[in-house]
Amino acid sequence: MKFEPKNPAIAKRCKRCGKLKLRDMFYFSFEAKDRLRSYCKQCDKEYNAEYHKTPAGIEAQERAIEVQRLKKLREYGGFGI
Ligand SMILES: [Zn+2]
Repeated sequence: MKFEPKNPAIAKRCKRCGKLKLRDMFYFSFEAKDRLRSYCKQCDKEYNAEYHKTPAGIEAQERAIEVQRLKKLREYGGFGI
């Protein structure tokens, strides 16, 4: 069965796969005008998985881990940090 929702109030086209999908197939986004990400959930997942394999993605991940570590150290009194 082919499912192609046409109503823009309930459907949105994904910028990555180009498919028209229901709005709940998209993640929420504060920055977006319509409060939804331009990629559907599936594409978002694939995009993130790919991004984390790139040097920029790996670096961002490492930076996030380091920030978390420093935050924790500070929260628990740390070692003079
Ligand atoms: Zn998609």
